[in-house]
Amino acid sequence: MTKNKMLKYLRWGLLALFTVLVSIAAYLHQVLGGTKAPSIHALCPFGGLESLYQVFTTGSFIGKIFAGTLTLFVITLIVALLFRRSFCGLICPFGVIQEFFAKIGQKIFKRKLIMPATIDKPLRYLKYVVLVVTVFYAWKTAGLWMAPYDPWSAYAHLPEGLASVWKESAIGLIILVITVLGSLIYDRFFCKYLCPMGALYGIVGKLSPFKVVRKENVCIDCGICNKVCPMNIDVQHSLKVTTAECLNCQTCVLSCPKPGALENQEAHKIIKPLTVIVLVMVVFFGTIFASQAAGIYNLTPAPLKAGESINYDEVKGYMSIKEAAESTKTDLKVFYEKFKIPANVPAETKMKEISTVVTDYDFDQVKGSLGTK
Ligand code: SF4
Ligand code: SF4
Repeated sequence: MTKNKMLKYLRWGLLALFTVLVSIAAYLHQVLGGTKAPSIHALCPFGGLESLYQVFTTGSFIGKIFAGTLTLFVITLIVALLFRRSFCGLICPFGVIQEFFAKIGQKIFKRKLIMPATIDKPLRYLKYVVLVVTVFYAWKTAGLWMAPYDPWSAYAHLPEGLASVWKESAIGLIILVITVLGSLIYDRFFCKYLCPMGALYGIVGKLSPFKVVRKENVCIDCGICNKVCPMNIDVQHSLKVTTAECLNCQTCVLSCPKPGALENQEAHKIIKPLTVIVLVMVVFFGTIFASQAAGIYNLTPAPLKAGESINYDEVKGYMSIKEAAESTKTDLKVFYEKFKIPANVPAETKMKEISTVVTDYDFDQVKGSLGTK
């Protein structure tokens, strides 16, 4: 096996590992609850951006987001400044899920399909619209208003069962299915057209000194780089790949048959693909470990101290009725009345699962009507 092929497997291996780890975290969140395992929103750096306004104006975070999410957000911005959209190409689990389905699609269709340019070009701007709308409403409503429409959130809640995900976030599930089907046909469908984070990293990455460069006098014009690029960038006819669409996935560099024709350049220095991958991992995970050591990387709420209580609007879906009553320092019988829970629902039932016993019970609506205690 050639060195470049091994590096391609290394990239796939790392992406698969991150996907498995994040999926396990999402599953544990469903099983153990939000105090023990972080929600998928806390694990997504975009939550940090959505919380920014609230952090600056009130000093607190929006629901399900914690200081660690903001740290993650800052780290990914640093990665974008140094290595463009490397987070998308080398770390993001949602990206590799799309690449996985694209590989299946290429087997089914026996070739790589490319969206016609007249549709593809305007559609690429859609992600910038999603970015502006998502952040505007998150800042305005001080909450994760888009969670029901978020395909990544729908994916993370799949362990609860399709019926439950459909009930909680039907649109998110539909977008997840569109993403999977879209990726079967067109690689990185969500990254190209819909991902607000990809849009942001693309803009920030424009400031990066990093780029893939092609040496015209060495290139043999075989077109392989164009063929393998998941974002359909015209590498073959560029001297420098500076578009905001480039994910720095290294696929073109590692697939080029002519040594020296395609290389990575940071400022004016040529760096090898392995060095790029290692540096991105070191910057990303090194900063996470450093912030963990500094105690600023919490992704779950701090446990309540003795004598502390929470308000009714802070009751979480993962809490059992009993836990929620204790956390709000409310007598259990009064809690049942306040939250309009029928007496036949066992106290061990999680708040978000009351609706499985009483079908027309809407936890969020009841909680919203109560306000703070
Ligand atoms: S240009 Fe190269 S590094 Fe950029 S997305 Fe395409 S294949 Fe990946
Ligand atoms: S794969 Fe390499 S040799 Fe082939 S066209 Fe692209 S840069 Fe040139």
